[in-house]
Amino acid sequence: HKLCLAQPDLLHTQCLIDGQWVGADSSRTLPVTNPATGEILAEVPALGAAETARAIAAAGRAWTGWRSATARKRAMVLRRWYELILNQSEDLARILTAEQGKPLAEARNEIVYAAGFVEWFAEEARRAYGETIPSPVPDKRLLVIRQPIGVCAAITPWNFPAAMVTRKIAPALAAGCTVVVKPAEQTPLTALALAELAVQANFPPGVVNVVTGEPAAIGDELTANPLVRKLSFTGSTEVGRLLMARCAATVKKVSLELGGNAPFIVFEDADLEAAVEGALLSKYRNTGQTCVCANRFLIQESIYDVFAERLAAKVRTLKVGNGLDEGVVQGPLIDGLALAKVERHIADALDKGARVLAGGERHPLGGWFFQPTVLVEVTPEMLCTREETFGPVAPLLRFGSEEEALAIANATEYGLAAYFYTRDLARAFRIGEALEYGMVGVNTGMLSYEVAPFGGLKQSGIGREGSHHGMDEYLELKYLCLGGM
Ligand code: ADP
Repeated sequence: HKLCLAQPDLLHTQCLIDGQWVGADSSRTLPVTNPATGEILAEVPALGAAETARAIAAAGRAWTGWRSATARKRAMVLRRWYELILNQSEDLARILTAEQGKPLAEARNEIVYAAGFVEWFAEEARRAYGETIPSPVPDKRLLVIRQPIGVCAAITPWNFPAAMVTRKIAPALAAGCTVVVKPAEQTPLTALALAELAVQANFPPGVVNVVTGEPAAIGDELTANPLVRKLSFTGSTEVGRLLMARCAATVKKVSLELGGNAPFIVFEDADLEAAVEGALLSKYRNTGQTCVCANRFLIQESIYDVFAERLAAKVRTLKVGNGLDEGVVQGPLIDGLALAKVERHIADALDKGARVLAGGERHPLGGWFFQPTVLVEVTPEMLCTREETFGPVAPLLRFGSEEEALAIANATEYGLAAYFYTRDLARAFRIGEALEYGMVGVNTGMLSYEVAPFGGLKQSGIGREGSHHGMDEYLELKYLCLGGM
């Protein structure tokens, strides 16, 4: 399981500030651990507020040149970065699996997905069109231009160490912004490898900066520094609220992608085979650790037992292990806290009357491995249907009518992704429109693409990433009113 790379210089253990690879002023470091083995892969700098302020200042200086480069020039650099990411995708996937745990096949998919944002926004860079407005008076002309907002901070989570970085910074860079990225402390190596490729792609110094270290120290500077005009965050609702509040002091624009509590509804007219396949994909991808993973399954009464049996039969065959091993489809959880949450949710459900149909316990491999699990006779009082489990647990609830399913599905402060299966076209529209979620999968368990708007309603977030809307988050409208015409 040693990390064998074709290009060993992708494995950086320093931060990128102003085009230079640097350590912490204090020389302090933080370990990066392989969640499958417990082995320490590397030590990365534990930067604090001072180094972060330097990165922000560098991004501020670089902004002048980057914003005035032509859109075509920015597009060409992004395009080069995209090609480098694809060329090095095998190494990137290995680094990703080593620090994050997901199966290598999933890591390869993530690198392609991550590169997709860079390609897409390289294309969008040239389409930041403005508008002209018919004037209400004869001697004036009114027009609107769209300009980059300025220095942007990106704080990213560990569950998609590559894609969350590119989904935020590719549109920022395309728009003409400069960035300071703080990757999750669990998975900084993928972000640093992407930064190395950004250097190779020839982004000017200071346009892309990556800082690793203690989250609060870096986060406090990113949110307080007035040079930072925008913060984009993906992570927990709790931390998102905190960062949003901190950004209020300097009135920064914020984009937030926070937690979810995705319902996965199967109506009795559904194609059951397809629903089971969709459930597997939606629930067990990344060992249940994505913010759009189905968190609760609502199954109509008449098909409940057969759906449960079919899903459990498939779940029992999922191979658990080190993501670098052949055939493994379930890696470890990210850490001990994640494992404890899964155990707490299962214990609470069993205590309140649920039954285990598959899995239910730690995996014999030990460490942070858990058996993929199916729970039946679950009710909306149980923790696993109210909080985001973020693990490989499928809790199955029963419902009678469509109204009941909708009421249960919408009874949450979250509103990120929802899924449902039906063969009735009218119902597909009815439910699709009634679900209070930013993204709805109809007869599919997978809906994330760089060309589509990703984001949530309610307390699941603010703003959209990906698609042509993703650029708007990094552009300001400026209205020019020309008089004396
Ligand atoms: P998770 O529970 O998935 O780890 P978090 O919201 O804790 O989600 O983490 C998401 C990102 O937010 C990570 O990069 C993490 O380091 C960062 N983070 C956590 N706490 C803070 C904080 N107080 N200030 C800034 N960033 C933080």
